[in-house]
Amino acid sequence: MAIRTKEQYYESVRRQAPELYSFGERLGDIGAHPCFKPPLDAIGLVYELSSQQDYENLLTAQSPFTGGKVSRFVHILSDREDLARRFRASRYLVHKHGACIGARCVSTGALNSTYAATFDMDRKLGTNYHARFVSFLKQVQENDLAVAGAMMDVKGDRSKSPGGQLEPDSYLRIVERRNDGIVVRGAKASISGAVIANEIVVLPCTALKPEEKDYAVCFAVRSDAPGIIHVAEAPGPNARRFVGEEMDYGNARYGAHGSTHVIFDNVFIPWDRVFMCGESEFAGALVNYFALLQRLFSTACKIGHRDLLMGAAAVIADYNGVGLTRQIREKLTELYFQSELSTGCALASIYQAQKSPSGVFLPDSLYINIAKLQGVSAIWDGNYITSDIAGGLVCTSPTAKDFKNEKIGKLLDKYLRGRADIPTEYRIRMMRLIEYLTGQSSVIPVESTHGAGSPQAQRMAIQQALMGVLDQYKKDARIMAGIEA
Ligand SMILES: Cc1cc2nc3c(=O)[nH]c(=O)nc-3n(C[C@H](O)[C@H](O)[C@H](O)COP(=O)(O)OP(=O)(O)OC[C@H]3O[C@@H](n4cnc5c(N)ncnc54)[C@H](O)[C@@H]3O)c2cc1C
Repeated sequence: MAIRTKEQYYESVRRQAPELYSFGERLGDIGAHPCFKPPLDAIGLVYELSSQQDYENLLTAQSPFTGGKVSRFVHILSDREDLARRFRASRYLVHKHGACIGARCVSTGALNSTYAATFDMDRKLGTNYHARFVSFLKQVQENDLAVAGAMMDVKGDRSKSPGGQLEPDSYLRIVERRNDGIVVRGAKASISGAVIANEIVVLPCTALKPEEKDYAVCFAVRSDAPGIIHVAEAPGPNARRFVGEEMDYGNARYGAHGSTHVIFDNVFIPWDRVFMCGESEFAGALVNYFALLQRLFSTACKIGHRDLLMGAAAVIADYNGVGLTRQIREKLTELYFQSELSTGCALASIYQAQKSPSGVFLPDSLYINIAKLQGVSAIWDGNYITSDIAGGLVCTSPTAKDFKNEKIGKLLDKYLRGRADIPTEYRIRMMRLIEYLTGQSSVIPVESTHGAGSPQAQRMAIQQALMGVLDQYKKDARIMAGIEA
């Protein structure tokens, strides 16, 4: 069963019963929850597409470990083409789900970095972590498991290292070594898809000093193992999912992130799932392997989001009746330019990728870091540009129930219409999608942009003022160049 069906994945999550809390209450059926069903469906979509022949090259690969076809997300990256295909897969899939598939996406970084670091450790120290990890990897590949990656500890006082914290559990650590395994305690903050993953691969989050051996720990754990407690994220827009209707959510089907804070309350990990236990000198290398890979796939994901953003910006400009104007084309060009700068650097990082001693290919550090940084900047710029293009309804749209109201529904339909030939509902839906993609569910940023006039109005006023002084400035320049007296 190297490629599971969507239903098999859903069934595996249903069978798990992770301890998950939201708004102070323990949740039961995750699959039916308004904020966990969307990320579950996003992962389900990846399973569904992976079993279709059209997506075979993009979403599956041939595994040297199982000898068969496996998901590209759990494949060991053994050449530049592997990196390139995995990069394309992330960008392409975002066009379909527009959300987060952390429980598949982070698998690649977590599995490949652990594969590489266990190889390094065994080679230098004569340990047997690599064989142990390969055995776990085979289980993941053969059963097509969804694997989250948990690196980020809660970190406590950021000015202090793990060993220097007043609260020693601020970084996850080994609290007991037993004959049959270890016991760990601590927490990992904001982990994408951890509660809807089958397994979580846990890694250190920073380089460690020799005296910080208890923090040098890497292992795999089921997301519902005894002692694992998940606390759900609670971003503002999630609240609307409890009171609104499908039209109010922007990306109704997939658009909730689904990360959890994962608390490890004295969790037992058997030895066959432990891949680092005290080898502090290798923590830095493991962190670096993970960071390089995850930055590549995160960059691809954000490029996909900006592709969607450009599409949404162009559509709303059309719906508003200004789609063909020069100012819209210029703004879209700027967004595209900023976004593709990031793509170019990511591709350069693949072109210059280097093979690690284990054989895992790693993107070039300089170019992937530039790509990631430029991508972040392009997202923020793109959010501004798209909100500017769309107008204030991004943050002030009424709800589906308002449109259904006998008295106000018709009035809203009449007054919130843009172009006469486009239904008002389409315009509101696109505004909601932009609200979702840009994260502008708080009124402040969009109100700051459009309140007291849109940026274009200020540009026009400034241009008008410039025209009033430009003749004089031109004359001054001609005089200075000796052309005029
Ligand atoms: C939605 C979401 C999903 C995520 N998913 C995952 C996941 O799947 N897996 C995972 O492992 N992680 C995940 N993360 C965690 C993410 O990687 C961390 O949030 C990120 O590394 C930043 O850590 P932090 O939030 O603790 O911020 P901080 O580290 O506190 O950073 C905040 C600011 O403090 C600065 N700072 C921190 N330390 C110092 C210092 N010593 N000196 C000076 N400045 C300092 C930073 O530069 C930054 O400007 C996710 C986060 C989010 C928000």
